Amino acid sequence: MSRTLYDCLNARTSPTHIYCQKGKMLGTANSGFIELIRLYRGNPLVQAICQKCEDFDEMDGGTVFPKDRGWLNLKDLKESK
Ligand code: SF4
Repeated sequence: MSRTLYDCLNARTSPTHIYCQKGKMLGTANSGFIELIRLYRGNPLVQAICQKCEDFDEMDGGTVFPKDRGWLNLKDLKESK
C-alpha cells in the first residue's frame, strides 16, 4: 500500500495548501505544495517523494482509509438533492 499525506504527521495544512513540515517538495508543479481542495475532495494524496522518505512519521492508528478522507462526500451530496 502506498504512503499518503493522510498517513504522515509532517503533512500540514495552511488555509489554502497542504505542505510538508520537513520542507520536502510536494505536488507536480514547482510550488512545493498541494491545493487544499484535494483534501476536501478526499483525493488519494499519494506523493512519489513520500514513498521512500526518511522523514516519514506515521500517524498513530495507521492508514486513513478512503471512506474517512475529506470532509465533502460528493456522492452523498448528489444523493441528498
Ligand atoms: S513522507 Fe516525507 S515528504 Fe511526505 S509528508 Fe512526510 S516528511 Fe514530508
